[in-house]
Amino acid sequence: MSVEPERIRALDGATKQLLWDRMISSKQTVSSYVVMLDGGSLETMELTAAQAEGFECLTCKAQHTADAGAFQPVGRIPSVGSVFQCVACSGGAR
Ligand SMILES: [Zn+2]
Repeated sequence: MSVEPERIRALDGATKQLLWDRMISSKQTVSSYVVMLDGGSLETMELTAAQAEGFECLTCKAQHTADAGAFQPVGRIPSVGSVFQCVACSGGAR
């Protein structure tokens, strides 16, 4: 069974980190995805499942943890979800 991010947020710190690490490490399979960027262009990218599902930065793979507020949505993958970049990769506030 997959672990929902919303449920992880409600847990205490140590348990949350454990479940989160397990979820991220289960999503390291790299596949090719067609990403619809916010500018409207389509781009084919080699991404881990964690990146494709918005759990890691699209560029540097920094973890988009339950506590991270600094990630910006940069596009979406149809039928998968939204993709994000950390502030460093997205160039800060736009
Ligand atoms: Zn990044």
